[in-house]
Amino acid sequence: MQKKKIRTYKAFAHVAPNIYNYEVYYLVYEGWSNFSLATCINCGELFVIDWENPKTKGLNIEQIADSHKCPTCNSNLTETIRDYPKMIKLKNGEIGSFVPSNQIPPDNESFVKEFYEIL
Ligand SMILES: [Zn+2]
Repeated sequence: MQKKKIRTYKAFAHVAPNIYNYEVYYLVYEGWSNFSLATCINCGELFVIDWENPKTKGLNIEQIADSHKCPTCNSNLTETIRDYPKMIKLKNGEIGSFVPSNQIPPDNESFVKEFYEIL
């Protein structure tokens, strides 16, 4: 599985009861791209999906993940893939959640990060 560099934002968020300031990544829709993040709910590995790619057209994330294995834990991703950060596999094993605000953060809060790309 190849990695792709995309522009992302980072927040320190309240993601579960009693869990504050947890580091999460999120994307902002900026008009020229249509990426979303996904996670392996078994190990927490993060992935990016490019919805403009002809290979993903008309599919949902389970279908895109079909036949792929998680490069980190070797799970069948079609069973473990989830929308991120709507679902977050926390370091303590619990499942958290984060919904970014609709406001676009300042440019200087973005940075480039590599994610595995599922095609
Ligand atoms: Zn995994």
